[in-house]
Amino acid sequence: MNYQPVIGLEVHIELSTKSKMFCSCSADYFGTKPNTHTCPVCLGLPGAMPKANKLAIEFAQKLALALNCQVQLGSKFDRKNYFYPDLPKGFQISQYDLPFSKKGFLIIRVNGSTKKISITRAHLEEDTAKLSHATINGKRVTLIDFNRSGVPLMEVVSEPEMSSAAEAKAYAQKLQQIVRYLEISDADMEKGSMRIEPNVSLRDVSQVSKVPRVPHALPNYKVELKNINSFRFAEKAINYEIERQTQVLKSGKIPHQETRGWDEKNNRTVSQRTKELAHDYRYFPEPDLPPFNCDQVYFSKLQSQIPELPDQKRERFLISYQILESEATLLCQDKYMANFFEETVKAYKGSPKKVVNWITGELLRRLNQTGQGIGDINLLPAQLAELLYFVDQNRITNATAKEIFEKMIQSTKSASELISELDLVLMSQKELEKLTETVIKNNQKAVADFKNDKKESLDFLIGQVQRLSKGKADPALVRQLLLDKLKS
Ligand SMILES: [Zn+2]
Repeated sequence: MNYQPVIGLEVHIELSTKSKMFCSCSADYFGTKPNTHTCPVCLGLPGAMPKANKLAIEFAQKLALALNCQVQLGSKFDRKNYFYPDLPKGFQISQYDLPFSKKGFLIIRVNGSTKKISITRAHLEEDTAKLSHATINGKRVTLIDFNRSGVPLMEVVSEPEMSSAAEAKAYAQKLQQIVRYLEISDADMEKGSMRIEPNVSLRDVSQVSKVPRVPHALPNYKVELKNINSFRFAEKAINYEIERQTQVLKSGKIPHQETRGWDEKNNRTVSQRTKELAHDYRYFPEPDLPPFNCDQVYFSKLQSQIPELPDQKRERFLISYQILESEATLLCQDKYMANFFEETVKAYKGSPKKVVNWITGELLRRLNQTGQGIGDINLLPAQLAELLYFVDQNRITNATAKEIFEKMIQSTKSASELISELDLVLMSQKELEKLTETVIKNNQKAVADFKNDKKESLDFLIGQVQRLSKGKADPALVRQLLLDKLKS
């Protein structure tokens, strides 16, 4: 029997507002001392009254618009009742039947082809406190940090329309790009400000509907994957599950409906809890927060604030700059990188292709090595443009330009300052003519060899000129000058 993976993704994204969702505590808690960003509201003390954060709602609505969702004019918050130590008030303020938005989609690109993935809903809720397990004085204890409690959290739920780990990864990465373009979250998986929970099951291929628009039958079980903090681990965990579930099904059994975590040490998923029945959260409208209504004028204004998104930018780059699809995709992954490219092209006024080569070559190589982003380094578009201009003017070689580029990033100096400081200006044609004459005079044997058809002696002569110039000769020009002189 053949199986087809059925994958859906639940993604949580912490919004980067100054204050928390329902109180005025600072939401910027990463790396701070535990329990220093708290108040009666986010500690869940009795009698504390929540007040909704307007900016968080605006961020949530912007994301919904960017995800092509139907935004709702009327919406409300609900209580999702459950008890867990990270939620001492016994309920989480979330959204149930009237979320801010539903029915959207994302376009992903995998191996050169595109696929539309439907989004079921995107709603806003509050994050919970963070539990950490430790051993203190020989006793196993659980510590609770409430700094995260009440931070605005978006939950974006997709339809189970992905059929490979690569598609799920592309979906999560696209969502991260959009969130970052909107500047509503840093969506950093390692810091936990973006968390993805794939659900994976397998369907018998013979169950796949052949009739267009008739939905495929869903498998009668689902495995949820949790505690994944990188795209790489997500891909590995999904692939592991596909393999594991295939084996279970092939043995004639049905995989358990359960939650599994990723064990990165042993490269496998492990069972965390089995969930036989769906939880009954006894949702009801949050009595302390009134429902609210937005009008069309408000949404049109919000729509006008949505910046150019990755796909639109990519299309525009392809047309405006005549670069390769792969290059446009790479540049537009990061809004700041794309802006850096455009600013450099503007300042340089030369071929955009040369700018792409430098950015995707030297610059990205360096950033990948150091794990930095374009905003973390000392490099202005005008500085790179100046460097490219000097290469075009034959004032420096490409090799020298790379050397200067490294130094430019490490200092705040411009290319022209570094070139004169390091005495790297290429020699003029006149100076090189003198050098070639000297080399020809001092290497008569090589000259004779060249004239006797030993073409490799030309390289020897070029090397001699380079040596005398101390690397400040343009190799192409030296070759030309030598050929002219040897043939005359
Ligand atoms: Zn608070």
